[in-house]
Amino acid sequence: MTAQFPAVLPTYSRTSLAFRRGEGAWLIEENGTRYLDFTSGIAVNALGHAHPALVQALTEQAQALWHVSNLYDIPAQARLAEALVEHTFADTAFFTNSGTEAAELAIKMVRKYWYEIGEDRPTILTFEGAFHGRSTGAIAAAGSEKMTKGFGPLMPGFKVLPWGDHDALRAALDTSVAAVMIEPVQGEGGIRPLPDQCLKDLRALCDQTGALLVLDEVQCGMGRTGRLFAHEWAGITPDIMMVAKGIGGGFPLGAVLASARAASGMTAGTHGSTYGGNPLACAVGAKVIEIITTPGFLDDVRRKAGFFRQRLEALVAAHPDVFEDVRGLGLMLGLKCRAPNLDLVKAAQAEHLLTVPAADNVVRLLPPLTITEAEISDGVNRLDRAATALA
Ligand SMILES: *Cc1c(COP(=O)(O)O)cnc(C)c1O
Repeated sequence: MTAQFPAVLPTYSRTSLAFRRGEGAWLIEENGTRYLDFTSGIAVNALGHAHPALVQALTEQAQALWHVSNLYDIPAQARLAEALVEHTFADTAFFTNSGTEAAELAIKMVRKYWYEIGEDRPTILTFEGAFHGRSTGAIAAAGSEKMTKGFGPLMPGFKVLPWGDHDALRAALDTSVAAVMIEPVQGEGGIRPLPDQCLKDLRALCDQTGALLVLDEVQCGMGRTGRLFAHEWAGITPDIMMVAKGIGGGFPLGAVLASARAASGMTAGTHGSTYGGNPLACAVGAKVIEIITTPGFLDDVRRKAGFFRQRLEALVAAHPDVFEDVRGLGLMLGLKCRAPNLDLVKAAQAEHLLTVPAADNVVRLLPPLTITEAEISDGVNRLDRAATALA
């Protein structure tokens, strides 16, 4: 033991808040102080904290069986896969424990697809501002200096394009491209939605050259934008999609969804995971999907999102020195700031409202999908007081 070195590897700059309990959209400290949670564990607690149906699903599974390996059939895993296949473009699903692991499989699946076809397609196109996780492959895919510096040699095979540069995309998307990998709404990059028309054009460009379209919906999926998956707004479907965060409602779970064609190279022995698709995670995931796809649930998310956005537009208009604009889709919203975003996060915390900073001087607002209109109003009032304190 070295006295000066923290017992927890200091890769995060944390605040000193520590929560004892969670209830819906609220986090509660040991001493009873309540914070309104517009972070949802960074888009993870999609149904809020301690949702009774999730607690029940987890508890029942915990009393029956925690883990068997993927050497055996896992009924909860099959149920979850069937629900995902029923509600999406996908024919098949592989379960992981995180978004990063989903990104790794997506990359492997793309490479194996072209290997089986016998075409040499060395390149996957990605975009500046992207975030696909922190593995050696995922940081190479995103390519930012911040994430990659000091971790070379980086995994080859990615070409990072500027965000929003259609000419650069057209020039790069030739028959050497195996796939295009993109977030329909960039999360870490600063809540930057890809306009519907761009996603449609991207789908068409991929079809022209044969490149697979890989969507990273780890943050923007699972109802976050008011549709089960964000790409539904553009009326297109991907070939492969990464999912995680919200799908486990707080239990570690991720997935790669794919069409039968895109998945065709992934035969027995080509991939695996000890914990991926375990009974506990899948029991919770199946309940999350069941609730989010209940008729009316997403209509309610869209209605609340419209209300939230209106309130935020008024907030921005009232504090032009602090805010520049509102961006995002559904309950994946960002306040582009003029003041330093970290100052606003701090000022909001002083008002007992939790928010998340993102790149591009944005403050992210990611409340649970189950938040009420009254709680949204309460949160906007806290932001108003925070902005007043800043100015
Ligand atoms: C969080 C995130 C990941 C990585 O997920 P982990 O579960 O942290 O590994 C990948 N892609 C996007 C878009 C994310 O927001």
